[in-house]
Amino acid sequence: MSSERELFRTDDAKVQTDTRDARMSGQGDRFNSKLREAFGSSPFILTKFDKFMNWVRGSSMFMLQFGIACCSIEMMHTYAVKHDLDRFHAGVPRASPRQADVMIVPGTIVSKFAPRMKRVYDQMPEPKFVVGMGSCTISGGPFQEGYNVIKGAEEVIPVDIHVPGCPPRPEALVYGVAKLQERIANGEASPVTVKPYELEQFGDLERDEIVDELASEIDEEDLVMRYNWADSP
Ligand code: SF4
Repeated sequence: MSSERELFRTDDAKVQTDTRDARMSGQGDRFNSKLREAFGSSPFILTKFDKFMNWVRGSSMFMLQFGIACCSIEMMHTYAVKHDLDRFHAGVPRASPRQADVMIVPGTIVSKFAPRMKRVYDQMPEPKFVVGMGSCTISGGPFQEGYNVIKGAEEVIPVDIHVPGCPPRPEALVYGVAKLQERIANGEASPVTVKPYELEQFGDLERDEIVDELASEIDEEDLVMRYNWADSP
């Protein structure tokens, strides 16, 4: 093996592009987007302020960096290159609740952790939203009988979107986030459960035989645990 290191040299032929040439000659049209052209010479948009704000909120969601149990691994996968949640304007997890407006709750919540989770949620600025990921977050999941397991995140914080599964696939979480964005844009506040059979409307998933089989057996009332402030600790 040679000990001499090859110097890196830029190959000019490989970096020449139309954009680069246009910039070098000062004739770039980077600011003339298709959208800008569509507006023509009077680029004003008239809309209701609430509608605009909801669109902005749904289009720039900052997720909290928050993992609890095995569902977190699927959540990380959702952020990673294959599924790339960033494509949906919701991809950069924030390390501080002060900078986040969406909390994905991915996993089993034990009673010792629940008050901490509530504290983190309280530190997020309004308006804030919660996506419950997985059966544990919905109802305690396979650990529902555990003496120390909270029977759903709804007992601690209000949840906007429930994504069932153990764990849900990344596609399901992406769908849940897309659903949340849709609801924020429409100004809708009530919690919803993403049904597995809705997934077929989304993405490039093949029809899944197991999902098809289970779809008719799923009772939404079993999946959703409504938030009850009065009975919560
Ligand atoms: S729902 Fe399943 S995968 Fe998710 S945290 Fe619970 S046990 Fe783990």
